[in-house]
Amino acid sequence: MMNVPDYFGSLVFDDRAMKEHLSKDVYKSLKKTVDQGQQLDIGVANAVAAAMRDWAVEKGATHFTHWFQPLTGITAEKHDGFIAPDGSGVIMDFSGKELIKGEPDASSFPSGGLRATFEARGYTAWDPTSYAFIKDKTLCIPTAFCSYSGEALDKKTPLLRSMEAVSRESVRILKLMGISEVKRVVPCVGPEQEYFLIDKEVFEKRPDLVFTGRTLFGAAAPKGQELDDHYFGSIKPRVAEFMAELNEELWKHGVLAKTEHNEVAPAQHELAPIYTTANIATDHNQLTMELMKKIAPKHGMVCLLAEKPFAGVNGSGKHNNWSLSTDTGMNLLSPSENPADNEVFLLFLAAVIKAVDKYQDLLRLSVATAGNDHRLGANEAPPAIVSMFVGDELEEVLKSIESSKHYSGSARKEMALGVTTLPKFLRDNTDRNRTSPFAFTGNKFEFRMVGSSDSIACANIMINSAVASVLKEFADKLETAGDFDKSYHDIIKKTIKDHRRIIFNGNGYDESWVKEAEKRGLSNLRTTADAMPRLLDKKNADMLKAMGVFSDAELASRCEIILDNYCKTVSIEAHTMLYMVRKDILPAVEKYMRRLAGCMAEKKGLGIKLSTKSEEAVLKKLSKLADSIMDSADALESVSVKNAGMSDVLKRSADIRDKVIPAMESLREAVDGAELITAKECWPYPDYGDLLYSVK
Ligand code: ADP
Ligand code: MG
Repeated sequence: MMNVPDYFGSLVFDDRAMKEHLSKDVYKSLKKTVDQGQQLDIGVANAVAAAMRDWAVEKGATHFTHWFQPLTGITAEKHDGFIAPDGSGVIMDFSGKELIKGEPDASSFPSGGLRATFEARGYTAWDPTSYAFIKDKTLCIPTAFCSYSGEALDKKTPLLRSMEAVSRESVRILKLMGISEVKRVVPCVGPEQEYFLIDKEVFEKRPDLVFTGRTLFGAAAPKGQELDDHYFGSIKPRVAEFMAELNEELWKHGVLAKTEHNEVAPAQHELAPIYTTANIATDHNQLTMELMKKIAPKHGMVCLLAEKPFAGVNGSGKHNNWSLSTDTGMNLLSPSENPADNEVFLLFLAAVIKAVDKYQDLLRLSVATAGNDHRLGANEAPPAIVSMFVGDELEEVLKSIESSKHYSGSARKEMALGVTTLPKFLRDNTDRNRTSPFAFTGNKFEFRMVGSSDSIACANIMINSAVASVLKEFADKLETAGDFDKSYHDIIKKTIKDHRRIIFNGNGYDESWVKEAEKRGLSNLRTTADAMPRLLDKKNADMLKAMGVFSDAELASRCEIILDNYCKTVSIEAHTMLYMVRKDILPAVEKYMRRLAGCMAEKKGLGIKLSTKSEEAVLKKLSKLADSIMDSADALESVSVKNAGMSDVLKRSADIRDKVIPAMESLREAVDGAELITAKECWPYPDYGDLLYSVK
């Protein structure tokens, strides 16, 4: 058994490996590229490629791939062997050109019209800020994916652009505040990943799980999460073995997997890594999801990453913990006793408040998927309304700033005039409001709306961009201000006043909040079909273009691709429902009805007076339900056929929301009703109880 520190990062061409395998000069040039975003010279690239190849081959790799994140799906890779002919034999070859740039035939990846069909190829470009690693005997090179005309076809490119924007504007602000030694500000992210584990054999008996990753039918189990006995409960041996293998793999890949525990729902778990830069956190989260899916079957289980695999129990999300950190080691969202630091903290806090309010629609749409629509607003998940939690203590501080009053907080200290003094926040003083979509948790914000299967890239692109744009507004004002202190105070005061509506410290799960939010004028974009088109609103498009994150063409293509994906996902679910109903469910109900009818007939034929009350009652109910299953299935088929014929994606997605999903819900209601009164041995699938308690 090796110790963790010995094998941690052993499959990563990280700083340590670079130092070991590169000459001093090459290492220095590469570092410059990484730290200062400078262009990589081809000579350096050749040297890096050769060193990377030797390192990878030594570790058993035979292939390399440009590992990238297309706009749908998890991650994409196309493997190329290192081998090249050499005389009568072969050598292992890998050039700088191959390292920097790949040209996959990418015609099957969605481009939303960005790539003409005659020009199927896009190209991938190495992102040297994220280390290469080995997976399945393949050297994986994290890359960006673009069209030939340079438009981003992936999630990494805009993420890197948004990180640039937030760094640029933060550095400007800090300079204005006299902190000129900061050269770079990096958004840091720690994503907590929720997931379900269920038994593989049970999984395979459910076509809905196999085809769509979530259950489309299923009456509630007698026991759900009522007792809260799963949360933080002891971990079952099989799950523990899975977690141990997952941790080992993640550690080898340099992922700082740290915390693991059982979640609220039966069969639900969570894994949290230690935070790192937004870019690497995103790559690591992609890798984590991939490894979870791959390792579970080795332990006879399947990992479900769907946001709402089971109706009526907790869904799975990803809590995106976000903060801004300087290259000098300062967390800009961390309040402290030092009044000078608090000036910075309050300005950045104000920027986040304004960004979240002004671009609440962008935050909502950054997490919009068909799957997440089922989760938001349901059990144990924030609603589709974006709001911000700051906690009681910070709320008091904001109030005192707004009304220019003294603040005397729980520190019970008389505060000096002005906003620059702030009591020290004890970390555990920031009461945890689990119901808030965007909560301040001491020294970071936790965005809880991200779906469990989604990449965290989109959410962070929007948070970074929105905050960068507000910081730019602030910096523009401060730069030209005659009286800096007055201007600084005015900005903070006005921001709190103008954007106070976004702050909500109450229970976000409560019905009354929906009404209250409406009164406050906050948007409630319940579905992807409602949210996604907002991407193209002038206010949003202007901001994203001004921050250099997206072009018009990229925005249009993204909106189209995500809506198209929404339509296709729901459409596959609708077809799966029809398949299950016609192939298995109706025949099963008929079989049970025949049994009941047979029993009644037999009793009657016996010549003694026997009651057939129970058979008759169930038969009547079931017969009615069978009719309504058939009617609902026919109705679903008809709306689905009509929907499939629609060519305009905006109209089609609205029709999915208004016609197809309600038809699916009606069908489910009838089927779940029938399941409840049909004999278990006649029902064709494992039920919710079997699924949720399948891992013993
Ligand atoms: P929980 O929210 O479950 O109570 P923690 O608050 O300890 O747990 O941390 C959750 C996640 O937040 C972890 O991934 C952790 O690394 C991350 N995190 C902690 N501090 C920061 C920070 N300053 N910036 C970004 N993420 C952070
Ligand atoms: Mg958390």
